Amino acid sequence: MTNIPVPEDCGAAIDTIRMEWGGRLLILGHHYQDSEILRHADLIGDSLELARGAARATAAERIVFCGVRFMAESADILSHGQRAVYMPAVNAGCPMADMADITQVERAWRAVTGLAPDWLPVAYVNSSAEIKAFCGRQGGLTCTSSNAAKAFEWVFNQQKRVFFLPDEHLGANTAHDLGLSDTAVRIYDPRAWDGGLNAESMKDARVVAWKGFCPIHMVFSPIRIREIRRRWAGAKIIVHPETPKEIVRLADAHGSTAQIIRYVAAQPRGATVFVGTEAHLVRRLADEHQARGVNVQMLTPSFCPNMAKTNLRNLLALLREWPDAARVKVPAATAADARTALERMLALG
Ligand code: SF4
Repeated sequence: MTNIPVPEDCGAAIDTIRMEWGGRLLILGHHYQDSEILRHADLIGDSLELARGAARATAAERIVFCGVRFMAESADILSHGQRAVYMPAVNAGCPMADMADITQVERAWRAVTGLAPDWLPVAYVNSSAEIKAFCGRQGGLTCTSSNAAKAFEWVFNQQKRVFFLPDEHLGANTAHDLGLSDTAVRIYDPRAWDGGLNAESMKDARVVAWKGFCPIHMVFSPIRIREIRRRWAGAKIIVHPETPKEIVRLADAHGSTAQIIRYVAAQPRGATVFVGTEAHLVRRLADEHQARGVNVQMLTPSFCPNMAKTNLRNLLALLREWPDAARVKVPAATAADARTALERMLALG
């Protein structure tokens, strides 16, 4: 067993190994990671930016993904098996992704397509490789919160309807952004017979959204927003679209992680902005913008415990030992179909 140094020494040890590897190693870090991890990342981004980075990383032999499992799976899929993908914390999953398994989804697809015609599946990248592969096989694609609207339009332009999974809220918010009424969106509940849907209710449906959610984005409340409006006149509020629509519509703006970062950066000196998303990102935005006089606050503190499973100790242990157990490898047949869905998304631009 490696004798891992105390955390304050880990950073220097990681730097040394990092230098030895040079361009043969690519470390990817999601925005929800702690700053001490992101200091070692070659590329920091949201799911879309990191997926693009993984696809472009042709010079690297190994990719280390500091994030959660579905992201590392996507990196493996997009690397065509040419680069070995590892995670410092392979047990870092995503509760939202776990809310839809492939057996449930295939049953749901039979139910939805049996009740009404003309559907294409769209999977949020926060889903398993099997579900991405299902979308690829069925002519659908993946999306992130940055390009969900483009993905929905891609489906609508083919005169089809969207079967979206696994996040009810991103599905409903995206439909609303595209001008659809709430009555055009139906929710598929995997615990109910035929998802709780029937042929009559499906006639006018344009979107069916899977009843899943991100626990981290469910904590924001109308009471808190009203309190901010009362106590902080002029303050702006922005939330992530994984947040329920009732909250999104009370906020001043909503957007993906990348869009939130741009929104905060566009605030003038003296502004106050409350941000409703994962707390590591909000804390970093607060630090970055303090110097220019922008007050960034958490709408409500909400940390993703799975993102927090990556730390300096397990990153260093990975870089020293490269254990097989830390490697993320999607079976070839699943990867081929999932790549089809991911590449359709990347082609959206
Ligand atoms: S923040 Fe939510 S969607 Fe993202 S990894 Fe954590 S639980 Fe999953």
